[in-house]
Amino acid sequence: MTAAYVKPLMIDIDKPKVDMKAEDCFSSQVTMTDWQEEQSAIMVCDEGAVVSALEKSRVNQRLSLQDFKALISPAATPYLEHMAKESQRLTQQRFGKTMQLFVPLYLSNMCSNICTYCGFSMENKIRRTTLDMKQIEAEALAIKAKGFDHILLVTGESERKVGIDYFEEAIKVLRQHFSHIAMEVQPLKTQEYERLNALGVESILVYQETYHRDKYAKYHLKGNKSDFDYRLQTPNRIGDAGINKIGLGCLLGLEDWRTDAFYVAKQLSYLEQRYWSMKFSLSFPRLRPCEGGAEVNSPMNERELVQLICAYRLFNNQVELSLSTRESAVFRDNMLALGVTSMSAGSKTQPGGYANDDKALEQFSIDDNRSVEQVANMITSKGYQVVWKDWQQGLTTA
Ligand code: SF4
Repeated sequence: MTAAYVKPLMIDIDKPKVDMKAEDCFSSQVTMTDWQEEQSAIMVCDEGAVVSALEKSRVNQRLSLQDFKALISPAATPYLEHMAKESQRLTQQRFGKTMQLFVPLYLSNMCSNICTYCGFSMENKIRRTTLDMKQIEAEALAIKAKGFDHILLVTGESERKVGIDYFEEAIKVLRQHFSHIAMEVQPLKTQEYERLNALGVESILVYQETYHRDKYAKYHLKGNKSDFDYRLQTPNRIGDAGINKIGLGCLLGLEDWRTDAFYVAKQLSYLEQRYWSMKFSLSFPRLRPCEGGAEVNSPMNERELVQLICAYRLFNNQVELSLSTRESAVFRDNMLALGVTSMSAGSKTQPGGYANDDKALEQFSIDDNRSVEQVANMITSKGYQVVWKDWQQGLTTA
């Protein structure tokens, strides 16, 4: 235990224990691998391995995790243009020239965790608020007026203030306005995910932040989120509850991005085998400035982010890839045709941000500040179609 690590005080006593003995448990798989060994294996990949992975992709062969390592390695840097073209080809083949637009709706900035990189961290002296149902309705109307039909509900992690009963109430209000509801909230129990599934929640996003077990403890000092294994097993509980889609990712900038990205790909493969009928999405958030300061230990430049997005596409031509307004307008415009399939637009990262723009409450500052209309116009000007509504979900829940 380091000086910075404080044993979590707010563990949910009803929380089911993770069965670490289960052979197919992903926590065990992470435990059985060595971070440094995986990192070294990525760094020593040579050009031959990169060329081999590109050739497999060209002839539509499925790439292995070893191929993925080669594509995110430094040896792949000279092949970035090849990777980008291949990523574009695969994406258009599977998704056409479409871009789904969504918007985050922050319901609360209350949080019982201390995370060293987040503006909502419990120790930060910011004003806290949780939207009531009337305020949620006002936000819904403001968002709907911008044309959205797909929202992502976001909260801090405060079981006491924003637990399953609150979510159920909020979703009942929001279902009247939106056909596609995704959520990015604290990890829940399987039965709670079943309740969300019954209300028609389409997808749940849960990011591991970093898969480096020891370093994870240094970023997550207090609260339920400091339980590395419980978080890592969350996608299994989501899958067991029958939710249609799981979103995975890590927070780029905390630890070596290549190694964390490899573990994301490994977890994706694991989940695909286990929950073969589910859909998956990946996000690649880079650490942004926020209240309390966020230390970027392992910076990732834009060229490397392009490499990672293309590598994910070559590795998996089915997975949805999502790019948020954390990134600049120029970068997002350039990435439009290179593998990404969904984007947020006109985002606010504070509760009540659409009906009442109070910046003091925001989680982090965004980079692409364009209006929804400007982003939509940019997409169509490049020959792409904006997808506002997930028609498949609309048909299945009607
Ligand atoms: S990252 Fe999530 S859990 Fe951690 S402080 Fe921020 S909102 Fe809370």
